[in-house]
Amino acid sequence: MDVLSKAVISGARPEEISATPLPDQYLAAHLRSEDVGVFDGVADKDVRRSLRLGSVPMPELAPDETLVAVMASAINYNTVWSATFEPLPTFEFLARHGRQGGLAARHDLPHHVVGSDGVGVVVRTGAAVSRWNVGDHVVISCVQVDDHEPATHADGMLGAGQRIWGYETNFGGLATYAVVKASQLLPKPGHLTWEEAASTMLTAATSYRMLISDKGARIKIGDIVLIWGAAGGLGAFAVQLVKQAGGIPVGVVSSDDKAEALRALGCDVILNRTELGVGTATTPEETIEQGKRLGRAIRDAVGEDPHVVFDYVGRSTFGLSVFVVRRGGTIVTCGSTTGFHHLYDNRYLWMNSKRIIGSHAANLQEQFECGRLFGLGKIVPVLSTVYPLSEVGEAARLVQTNQHIGKVGVLCLAPEEGMGVTEPEFREELGASALNPLRKV
Ligand code: NAP
Repeated sequence: MDVLSKAVISGARPEEISATPLPDQYLAAHLRSEDVGVFDGVADKDVRRSLRLGSVPMPELAPDETLVAVMASAINYNTVWSATFEPLPTFEFLARHGRQGGLAARHDLPHHVVGSDGVGVVVRTGAAVSRWNVGDHVVISCVQVDDHEPATHADGMLGAGQRIWGYETNFGGLATYAVVKASQLLPKPGHLTWEEAASTMLTAATSYRMLISDKGARIKIGDIVLIWGAAGGLGAFAVQLVKQAGGIPVGVVSSDDKAEALRALGCDVILNRTELGVGTATTPEETIEQGKRLGRAIRDAVGEDPHVVFDYVGRSTFGLSVFVVRRGGTIVTCGSTTGFHHLYDNRYLWMNSKRIIGSHAANLQEQFECGRLFGLGKIVPVLSTVYPLSEVGEAARLVQTNQHIGKVGVLCLAPEEGMGVTEPEFREELGASALNPLRKV
């Protein structure tokens, strides 16, 4: 292990960290450009084959960037997309980014360090960084923006230069160091461990924008919200946000284990899609037939149709979502795990004045507001399991095969779980088990 990593792990003071030289290389989970095509014609695109762990060169830092020693990270579904080279090899994003020239060219490499969540300690700041200092404990937002673009100042997600760090950029979070723009940093809640804090931001903030923000469905007290994949990374935060907003979550899952996890999150109504036989429609007739069955199950449980449907499953569910949401209701979507080309009967949309909102990640203000909810203890992490960085392939495989519940954490520099708490009193007040509702399942 390099001396800087050792210093950070031992809790060195900021001046010691600044005086310790950077290593030339660091350990990182990465893809290699020569592996693109390795899955051609292969039915099971097993991410353990493409996700490599090894040393990569330490990049140069731009003036508006910081170098973070990553204590922990988490698996997001975008790492499954990257590691299967679908729908596009991410090397195409890196090449496009690199064509901007200047320091953007650093990203266009034959290796791609992936990972879009992380927490750690700032070990270097670029000359233009004024709000963050060496030694700060930070949560990393996955959204990089170009603040020279006018649209960025209306909403960070609208700027064309917006990129998802560790997916559309290099130097991501499943590594011992990460290059992060200062405008991606958020304070780490002191009562959370490294791995708890690292598992929150990407999916929680995405759910926040989809449900709470004025850019999303803007739910209110009493709203019934149908949540597909409610025990998944996005869903488990959506359930908590709906509860906190005074709404009624109706969670859909595929197994008894996941139903138990939803009960632990306090989800009011739980539907098992396997038992109900929904989410498999491939024709318009099947969609209506399954939609009627799902609609009946929701009405039986809560007496009315949902105000909002939270859908990122995509092709398998979207037609049902448009069908079951109530008149004037909203379907909010941020993804398409089962297929990007959605089929739905538009008559149900226009005749009943329903609307669809597309949503992507969250701007920095939304991420900050979401982080604040963690800081207040209003929402909690949904970690179910934690792997060391040396087993990152297994961690990603769990998510790829939908065997996980909530979030899967990864320890990077943190030598063990349970470290990084700086507000032990608040942690005790909330209770460690309340902060980990899915770990006992
Ligand atoms: P996740 O933890 O893997 O959760 C996905 C959930 O989808 C699973 O828990 C599963 O629940 C459900 N699911 C899978 N196949 C299904 C089917 N055929 N019908 C119904 N439900 C199904 O993933 P995640 O992190 O929540 O991300 C989910 C998707 O959103 C991914 O495609 C990801 O790329 C996208 N995403 C987009 C953004 C953005 O900003 N645009 C951010 C985060 C994620 P059950 O098996 O229990 O039903």
